[in-house]
Amino acid sequence: MVTLPDGTRVPALGQGTWRMGEDRRARKAEVAALRLGIELGMTLIDTAEMYGEGGAEEVVGEAVEGRRDGLFIVSKVYPHNAGRRAVAAACERSLRRLGIDTIDLYLLHWRGSVPLAETVEGFEALKHAGRIACWGVSNLDVADMEELWSVGGAACATNQVLYNVDERGIEFDLIPWCAERHIPIMAYSPVGQGGRLLRHKALAGIAARHGATPAQVAIAWTLRLPGVIAIPKAADPAHVRENAAAAALRLTEEDHATLDAAFPPPARKRPLAIL
Ligand code: NAP
Repeated sequence: MVTLPDGTRVPALGQGTWRMGEDRRARKAEVAALRLGIELGMTLIDTAEMYGEGGAEEVVGEAVEGRRDGLFIVSKVYPHNAGRRAVAAACERSLRRLGIDTIDLYLLHWRGSVPLAETVEGFEALKHAGRIACWGVSNLDVADMEELWSVGGAACATNQVLYNVDERGIEFDLIPWCAERHIPIMAYSPVGQGGRLLRHKALAGIAARHGATPAQVAIAWTLRLPGVIAIPKAADPAHVRENAAAAALRLTEEDHATLDAAFPPPARKRPLAIL
């Protein structure tokens, strides 16, 4: 479990939804995958108005219908909808698609041209109106976070950023910056989108030692830090089961040394990697 700045406790392992809601023929399977994940304890679900242009929020809405209690639903607003009035309208549209009364955590998807102060104002108004429980950001590097703080952003509940064993740049400065302020990091693409990362021999070797899979090793690695939440996306039920079981996998010091050798931690500042 991870504790948000307001004291809310959320599971460290949740589910992503990017690429869901894009094809109606896949909908039944996507809903079933999310429900399976919920049953297996991955009760935090991350979505966005951008995913499938509302389609993913509708899939989430269908998956959570009749079982809202105990779930933690995260959605994101487009930067161009992050103005004072536009954010309220965007939030209402998201709530309608999700079929819920309150979004648990509402994020600015990435920084656009709307001043951060205005977005903070809009988020705070939504909080006071009970339409969101808390708010946060995504894809903001340290300088942007500093600016956010300077405009009243200290209530920020998370920063959702790219983080996996092959994308470790944020360990240099953003992770320590957030940790000092007790802001959890939400790690997106924790299995490297199921591509090259999962074929790396270092992951394969560690997986074999544990009777696990490379994806499980990749997820367990992101969860080694106390303030990190990982949100792998899986529409395939076998992947969902695999990912859920990764929460119980404990990597050894030797595993960590192997991974550090294969994917060295950053020795200097790197610009924030974004997908
Ligand atoms: P990801 O979770 O690293 O990878 C998802 C891909 O990997 C899917 O193709 C999935 O296939 C496959 N996969 C999942 N589990 C697997 C396993 N155990 N073994 C093999 N393949 C597996 O990448 P992501 O979707 O980019 O990131 C996760 C979530 O983070 C997103 O869905 C979204 O909610 C969020 N995100 C946020 C941002 C942002 O800007 N804030 C950017 C990117 C992502 P199947 O679907 O076929 O199972």
